[in-house]
Amino acid sequence: MTLTAQPKASHFIDGAYVEDTAGAEIEVIFPATGAVIARLHEATPAIVEAAIASAERAQKDWAAMRPVERARILSRAVQIIRERNEELSQLETLDTGKPINETRYADATSGADCLEYFAGLAPTVTGETIPLGRDMVYTIREPLGVCVGIGAWNYPTQIACWKSAPALAMGNAMVFKPSETTPLCTLKLAEIYIEAGLPPGLFNVVQGRGAVGASLVTDPRVAKVSLTGSVATGRKVYAAAAEGIRAVTMELGGKSPLIVFDDASVEDAVGAAMLGNFYSTGQICSNGTRVFVQKGIKAKFLERLKARTEAIVIGDPRAEATQMGPLVSRMQAEKVAHYLQVARDEGATLVTGGSMKDGLYVEPTVFADVTDAMTIAREEIFGPVMSVLDFETEDEVLARANGSEEGLAAGVFTADLARAHRMVAGLQAGTTWINAYNLTPVEAPFGGVKRSGVGRENAKAAIEHYSQVKSVYLGLGPVDAPY
Ligand code: NAD
Repeated sequence: MTLTAQPKASHFIDGAYVEDTAGAEIEVIFPATGAVIARLHEATPAIVEAAIASAERAQKDWAAMRPVERARILSRAVQIIRERNEELSQLETLDTGKPINETRYADATSGADCLEYFAGLAPTVTGETIPLGRDMVYTIREPLGVCVGIGAWNYPTQIACWKSAPALAMGNAMVFKPSETTPLCTLKLAEIYIEAGLPPGLFNVVQGRGAVGASLVTDPRVAKVSLTGSVATGRKVYAAAAEGIRAVTMELGGKSPLIVFDDASVEDAVGAAMLGNFYSTGQICSNGTRVFVQKGIKAKFLERLKARTEAIVIGDPRAEATQMGPLVSRMQAEKVAHYLQVARDEGATLVTGGSMKDGLYVEPTVFADVTDAMTIAREEIFGPVMSVLDFETEDEVLARANGSEEGLAAGVFTADLARAHRMVAGLQAGTTWINAYNLTPVEAPFGGVKRSGVGRENAKAAIEHYSQVKSVYLGLGPVDAPY
């Protein structure tokens, strides 16, 4: 894998790469070595203007096309992504530092799944007819217009696909701003869309930090904003969108509970807890970072967890054998190091890990005897740091699991399926799993409740968030006016 990934230019607008060197520089770092792999420029107001204007122009003709024609183009993009999976996975690894043996299976491939799903769904979306005796109403599901997508850095390709696939399938255009930390993959997606036959302007990419995102959100031509990011950013973007009464989807952070009852399979529960804390070096929004373990199973659970965690292969994400790469940036590494110290200071028991390693690496870490009041049980860390908390009864754990201001996800491990269903019915979370964790197939709606978000991505639910219903009243008789 070569250590350079300089794109032809920073932005992709109206079917072509565009540069404006007046924008502030963004250095793109390969987190494993610190090497600068690309230098980009933030979008200037002129770039933002060009992106929105071209999206607005292109959207009208796109919306007028038959859904099967739109679907055919998206399906071609699916094919190209699959054919180029290796190249796209290598770029994702350079951009994020995630191991090649993750990116090959979880990134471009899941983006392709998403496009395939919405290509299939697009031609099936219909309105309804509502009989009213003599008269009737029919409904039309219309696109919203120009949508803005703003991404987090952990899954750049997947996030861009989860937003653009339903948007495009429903006849919208999208202007997408990737995270300034991982800005490269989305440019490849823009290239692929054009190669697949997507008319220019329907998927434009502009680079930049928060201020560029903010300028997109408040543009009067923008109908909808979909953000994946932290709760703090979500609050700002939601408020800015509200100024213009714009539709939003907010995919934000969480502090999700994973509950393991005494009767669960220890190996399965340990495996799920590891996936839900260590995959992508713990940088996943839906991670089950509060692992509640019933007292009777605690000793066995911790013993297996420690053994399996210590066998994780940490290293250069380009190496085939690597199971965990570095954190994405120095800022993220400093944040994780801070929480490792706070956990010790507040009296959590270190089971394994706990240290930063050279550069941006951190050992996969487990703390036990964590209490609800401890900082690591309340704040999102976004690194491979698992908190294990003890519990005794079902009622107790349900109340404690729900005692968070966030509600993105939750999981339950038990052999008692009646209890499992009882638990998920009571859990305040948008996405839940029974005897599984962190699987997010495109067929299933994904999103959060409480401060974790608004709206849903994926599945048929996403259609609602990228279209609006027009109601058409059809008068079929004389007008009965009282005047
Ligand atoms: P972040 O909130 O710092 O940034 C997210 C994006 O918002 C970036 O592109 C950033 O440039 C942009 N931004 C920042 N300020 C803005 C503003 N005022 N207006 C418009 N855009 C602005 O998040 P991050 O650090 O990139 O990602 C990590 C966070 O994302 C975590 O909290 C994680 O839980 C969350 N996340 C959520 C999901 C989900 O689907 N729920 C998925 C992945 C990550």
